[in-house]
Amino acid sequence: MIARFIAPLFRFAIVACCCALPSAAIGATIAIDIGHSLASQGSRSAAGHGEYLYNRALALEIARILEASGHKIDILNREGTIKSLAARPTRAAAIKADLFISIHHDSIQPQLMNQRERYRGYSAWVSGSNPHAAASLTCARTIASTMRKSGMRPALFHADKIPGEGHQLLDAGNGIYRRDGLAVLRLSKTPAVLIEAGVIVNPVEEAWLNNPRVRAAIAQNIAAGIHACVPKPRFR
Ligand SMILES: [Zn+2]
Repeated sequence: MIARFIAPLFRFAIVACCCALPSAAIGATIAIDIGHSLASQGSRSAAGHGEYLYNRALALEIARILEASGHKIDILNREGTIKSLAARPTRAAAIKADLFISIHHDSIQPQLMNQRERYRGYSAWVSGSNPHAAASLTCARTIASTMRKSGMRPALFHADKIPGEGHQLLDAGNGIYRRDGLAVLRLSKTPAVLIEAGVIVNPVEEAWLNNPRVRAAIAQNIAAGIHACVPKPRFR
């Protein structure tokens, strides 16, 4: 069954790929990192909310779906008290996670804020310095292509040759970037992917992302991508 949601104020629909994921033959252990913290909340949305709150709401929804399909989920930073970036992959290694996923919401460079309505879309990030860089990219492709097929648009503006951007776009069709220095990805002992679910400094996109039905559909698609990528093979 396919569900289609059209949020008010937004022009395009998102399709949840499926209502329930099939049970995993072998449940994987997946670390889901809630980006930023209560003390340092990341980007500030157009409506003035901290990015951490968006990250937390989406991560918990993804975790719920994956747990229901038989995976073991460790939510990193549920209470918002982990400030250290290095502590997150360290925790994932301690529980012998098969995959590390970090959930974020996006912003733009300060000099572009006067045209922020132009910027929207999701992106997925991998590090070439991760010891499982190829597997990370495979998982990023699986997750990002599931998001794209659901009707979401990849954000390509991080490749723009302007101060603060100019990042290496590995897969323009799916919105996948390489950024070797991202600590949570670089320090992870397992394949690792960082997801920027959407641009919360864009007031229209923020309203869309904050719609509970849209969030549920995005979570379903990210979870489906993770589910498709993680069980085969075990990376450790
Ligand atoms: Zn962030």
